[in-house]
Amino acid sequence: MDGMTFSADTQWPQADALVYDDAVRARVDHLYERVKDVITPMEWPKFAPLIDGILRLKEQRGATILAHNYMTPEIFNCVGDITGDSLKLAQVAAEAEEDVIVQAGVHFMAETAKILSPNKTVLIPDMEAGCSLAASITGEDVQRIKAAYPDLPIVTYVNTSADVKAYADICCTSSNAVQVVEAVAAQWGVDTVIMIPDEYLAKNVAAQTDIKILTWKGSCEVHEQFTPEDIEDLRAAHPDAVILTHPECPPEVMAKADFAGSTGAMAGYVKDHSPKKAILITECSMSDNVAVENPGVQFVKPCNLCPHMKRITLTGIYEALRDLKHEVTVDPVIAAKARASLQAMLDLPKADKPPHFDTGRDAVAVPYVAV
Ligand code: SF4
Repeated sequence: MDGMTFSADTQWPQADALVYDDAVRARVDHLYERVKDVITPMEWPKFAPLIDGILRLKEQRGATILAHNYMTPEIFNCVGDITGDSLKLAQVAAEAEEDVIVQAGVHFMAETAKILSPNKTVLIPDMEAGCSLAASITGEDVQRIKAAYPDLPIVTYVNTSADVKAYADICCTSSNAVQVVEAVAAQWGVDTVIMIPDEYLAKNVAAQTDIKILTWKGSCEVHEQFTPEDIEDLRAAHPDAVILTHPECPPEVMAKADFAGSTGAMAGYVKDHSPKKAILITECSMSDNVAVENPGVQFVKPCNLCPHMKRITLTGIYEALRDLKHEVTVDPVIAAKARASLQAMLDLPKADKPPHFDTGRDAVAVPYVAV
């Protein structure tokens, strides 16, 4: 198409019919300056027409795009309105004024946005964008745990389905997990909390608190791949680098790092300390996105890609906005219960900046729930 002079009633073209013409250049080439260190000049002509189409459609639809830290840099930096970790996205989704939310992230994040904003249209560019943690447990499993441990609160990681959130007592993220565990234990007057479904996050939290924890056998297929030997090899190859890990990694990996925290905490550390060289032990795109914000820092990228996050593409976002398709819905009864679990988390005092995990703590035994 020539010129791309669309208006509200113009038929938008198929994604593969968009072209990188002078009009597109004039509208979006200024964005390339921001991402030029992580997107090559050869890639930009492919991305630019889609970015242009998305930005214009977004305005036409009254939409906002929530982009998780694990999105590729052309999504995160060029079309995301709100960017960050899952806690930040959940909080912003609750306050969004726009009628349409596009979740550039995986399905449980879109469900969370819908639960917190039930009157809005929530779209996800690919319905198959799942998560190994969310797939590891069901609402029925949580009901069985509740029946077996009626006196213990159940904390669920937000990386779970609406069903799981509905039957848990409170949600947490990797950013506020320690705070949530301690707060719910105090509220219930107990010294033990059930934390599902990520066994590694549960073990890492247990090392930070006196509260005893029972957990579930779930894990993130991206972070569980990292080994202590990986960290030793990276340390030997890059002795001048700061190594940062995500608490979904096994505790033995976190023990060998210099810093551990949520994606938001990692980004904050790099911004505050401006290390000469940094290694982020997490999903691959995170390094690119933190690099854009910190051009003076050199990043070594031990890349583990999340196949679910990588299902979200500019083409998928464009088509979801163009056709208002892939709407995420949640049963209203389940949504009301899940909202209570999320709200219990959101009602806790907010930290000024995401807290980090102390990497020097001894490992603590964390049994699985017996159900
Ligand atoms: S990185 Fe891990 S926790 Fe995040 S969506 Fe992918 S599989 Fe799930």
